Amino acid sequence: MAADPKFLSYVDEHQADYIKRLSKAVSIASVSGNLRWASFQVKPVAIKNLSLTTDIHIHSYVKDVEAMGDFLMEQLANLGVTAEKRQIGTHILEGKEVDLPPVIIGQIGNDPKKKTLLIYGHYDVQPALKEDGWLYPPFELTPDPSGSGRLYGRGSTDDKGPVMGWLNVLEAHKNLGLELPVNLKMCFEGMEENGSTNLDKFIESEKDKFFAGADCMCISDNYWLDTKTPCLTYGLRGINYYEIKISGPDRDLHSGVFGGTVHEPMTDLISIMSKLVTPAGEILIPGIKELIAPVTNDERAKFEAIHFEMSDIHAAVGGDVTLSEDTVTTLMGRMRNPSLSLHGIEGAFSAPGSKTVIPCSVKGKFSIRLVPNLTIKSVTDYVVKFVQDEFAKLGSKNKVDVYLTHGGEPWIADPNHYSYRAAHKATESVYGQAPDYTREGGSIPVTLDFANILGLNVLLLPVGRGDDGAHSTNEKIDTDNYIRGTKLLGTYMYELAATKE
Ligand SMILES: [Zn+2]
Repeated sequence: MAADPKFLSYVDEHQADYIKRLSKAVSIASVSGNLRWASFQVKPVAIKNLSLTTDIHIHSYVKDVEAMGDFLMEQLANLGVTAEKRQIGTHILEGKEVDLPPVIIGQIGNDPKKKTLLIYGHYDVQPALKEDGWLYPPFELTPDPSGSGRLYGRGSTDDKGPVMGWLNVLEAHKNLGLELPVNLKMCFEGMEENGSTNLDKFIESEKDKFFAGADCMCISDNYWLDTKTPCLTYGLRGINYYEIKISGPDRDLHSGVFGGTVHEPMTDLISIMSKLVTPAGEILIPGIKELIAPVTNDERAKFEAIHFEMSDIHAAVGGDVTLSEDTVTTLMGRMRNPSLSLHGIEGAFSAPGSKTVIPCSVKGKFSIRLVPNLTIKSVTDYVVKFVQDEFAKLGSKNKVDVYLTHGGEPWIADPNHYSYRAAHKATESVYGQAPDYTREGGSIPVTLDFANILGLNVLLLPVGRGDDGAHSTNEKIDTDNYIRGTKLLGTYMYELAATKE
C-alpha cells in the first residue's frame, strides 16, 4: 500500500517547518558523555562562551540532556502521543551520584486490527566543541552557504534527524486528520552515546508491560554505505576484546645489566601476538574458522548487489592498502567474516628516544569481530587455550594471563521478514531504487538488547548518508535525506500495514 499522497505532499510543503524542528533539537546540547569531559578535563566547555568550572560543566550538560527530554515530551504530547518519562537509575559523575537521563516511552494507536511497530531513537549526542575544527557552532543547525543542502550540527544525523523525522510523520498525519496505518510504540533514550546504561534492564522489566504486543521494530541510527544508495541493514558484527598479560621480574630492568640473563616479558608477548593472525588477515586460532556459519546463496547475492567501488574504501582509509581488490571479498571481510586486530601493548616503552628498559610486565591488547555462529564464550575458550598452549611452547619462566575484557555478541535479522519487505517497497517508492542490504562491521548494542530480550525482528533503516560524520567534527545531514527520510519512515508504516506476514 503506497503512502497516502496527502502525506507526501504535506512533507514537501512543510520542509521549512521540519528544518526548524531539527534546528531547535540541535540547539539543545544534550551531550550524555559528560563523564568523559569531567574525568579528562579536555577543554573548557564552549557552549555558553563562559569559562566554567568542571563541576558546572557536568551540571550544565546534565541539564541539557534533561531539557532535550522535556522538548521531546512536549512535542510528543502536542502530536497526540501518550508519553511518559521513566527514571532508570543513577550513575556517578565526578564522584557525584546523578540520575540517568530518563527513557521516554510513548504510544499512539491501540487498534488490535493493526500491526504494532516499535521504534527506537536517542536524544543524546556526542560532545562537540567549535575549536575541535567545526566550521560553524556545533549546536546551531547551519545550512551549507554554498547551497549543497547540507545541514551541519551535532546530532543532525545521529540521531536527532531521524527522531525528528518520526515526529514530522506524526505531525503530518495529525494536521491532515489521517489515521496512522499502524499502532506505534516508541522508546527514546538519552544515554546511547554513553553506553546505554540500564537500558537493557529497562527493556527486560517492561518486556511484558509497555513492550508487550509489539510485532516488529525499526531503528534509524546507522547510515548508508555510500552517499547515493539507500540501504536496509540486517546484521552487526559483535566483538570480543582481550588482554594477554605477561609478567616476569618484579621491577623494570636495564638491558645493559640484565639483557641476556632473564626471560623478557615483551619478547614472549610479541612471539604470541605474532601467532594470532597473518598479515593477510587470516585468524590462526584453531577452531574459530569452523564456527563461521556457511554463506547461503541468498546472502552472497545480497553482497554482490551492494553498490560499492574499491575506490570508496580507498578513499575512506586514505590509501590503497586493502587486503583484496575484489568488492565482494572486501565487503564480506568487513561485514560477514570475523577479523582479528592487534591494538596495542600497555607497559611497553613507547615514547620517542632510545630507552634501554626491559619492561617487567606488559599487556597485549587485541580484539576479534564476531559473526554468526561465533559466540563470546566459544571464541574465548579457543583464544584462552591457544594462548596458553603457545606460551607453554616458549619454555619461558614468566607468567601469562589471558582474559576477555568485554564482549558483545553478533546480531543478524531475517532480511526476508515482512518488515524488511515493507521497507524495501518503501525505499523503492521514495527513492526510485531498491535498497542495498548491508551489515555493519561494528556493533550497535541496543539492537541486540531489543532483538534478544523482546524476541522481535529488528530492521535498521538508515536515514543519513555514509559521509554524514556522526561522532566527528562537522556532522551533517543532507536536507534531501532528512525530507525523503521523513517520507521513507512514513511510507514504511503504510507498507508495513499492507505486507503479509
Ligand atoms: Zn546514534
